[in-house]
Amino acid sequence: MTETAHPRTATLRARAEIDLAALRANVRTLRARASGAALMAVVKSDAYGHGAVPCARAAVAAGATWLGTATPEEALALRAAGIGPPVRILCWLWTPGGPWREAVEADLDVSVSALWALAEVREAARAAGRPARVQLKADTGLGRNGCQPADWPELVGEALRAEAEGLIRITGLWSHFACADEPGHPSIAAQLDCFRTVVADAEAAGVRPEVRHIANSPATLTLPESHFDLVRTGIAVYGVSPSPELGTPADFGLRPVMTLSAALALVKHLPGGHGVSYGHHFVTAGETTVGLVPVGYADGIPRHASGTGPVLVGGKWRTVAGRIAMDQFVVDLGGDLPEAGAEAVLFGPGDRGEPTAEDWAQAAGTIAYEIVTRIGKRVPRVYVNEEPNGREG
Ligand SMILES: *Cc1c(COP(=O)(O)O)cnc(C)c1O
Repeated sequence: MTETAHPRTATLRARAEIDLAALRANVRTLRARASGAALMAVVKSDAYGHGAVPCARAAVAAGATWLGTATPEEALALRAAGIGPPVRILCWLWTPGGPWREAVEADLDVSVSALWALAEVREAARAAGRPARVQLKADTGLGRNGCQPADWPELVGEALRAEAEGLIRITGLWSHFACADEPGHPSIAAQLDCFRTVVADAEAAGVRPEVRHIANSPATLTLPESHFDLVRTGIAVYGVSPSPELGTPADFGLRPVMTLSAALALVKHLPGGHGVSYGHHFVTAGETTVGLVPVGYADGIPRHASGTGPVLVGGKWRTVAGRIAMDQFVVDLGGDLPEAGAEAVLFGPGDRGEPTAEDWAQAAGTIAYEIVTRIGKRVPRVYVNEEPNGREG
């Protein structure tokens, strides 16, 4: 185990420790689950808050051959950090006037759902003097991005014309599920049917894609018939279950990658009947001790978890007392007196008895995706178990 955490980090106000060995193991576990397909590690939104570049590198070291981002800027940043071909990078959230030319020059795969995007990518390819790698996205039922089946033949036809002109290569046909986290939901079979149809229609028209793909994490974990040539796993790479109903991370052989902790900024006695934090929504029942945890909603700690969020201090679960403020919140220590600087663990893998991101999601009435993704820039990411030589470990 390589400890890259500097000793000084022990005194950090707060830290999000990112266990890259866990991330690599998760990627290997997911590859084994979808052994007939290639694996795309989705590293959008700074790798769900874990840090895009280190996580992308670790995922590639563990055998991911594709990376996925929402925006082209995120994808370009990966290339700028030195993650070059043969690693493929797909970015799918475009708006008119986007950096199409830079994307073509950086050898990104760009997603096209509509004719306006195809027109922009053709122009960019012309300007760049090289063909663009284009993946056509179908809306098979999500009702969000993607081309409706009714408009698909026209989009495919235009794309084939651009391909014949040498301006683009149609590298992929793809789509996205609405309800993959609810196994048995009737939309899943309907979307798979629709996807097979739009792929068959495009191939009959002459498209020869490198990859066809529709599976996100829940589909990768529960729906083998959705794997096709490539699976796009996001949340599972970070060791978080897509939904508590599906199972825990351990049920799928996954390990949470992020551990969020803080150093208590103050420990003190409070008399009974004392209000705590803004609005005095918590009042001490009797004399007690409290600890000041120096992270707040500006750090991504959800204010909706006021009065409910769990924190491990001194081996015991404590509960947020009163409101979570911008920079800090208070936990009731029930008479215990840890020293200032003692570790407060908000969430982690859970095997030291600490809560998990899922526990915080439940406390805040949201999903664990939102908990890890929103941890703010003010919290340093501390990478452990890095392998600087990039070898798989
Ligand atoms: C975010 C995203 C994914 C990954 O979803 P997870 O549920 O995190 O695996 C895959 N595909 C698209 C289009 C996405 O936006």
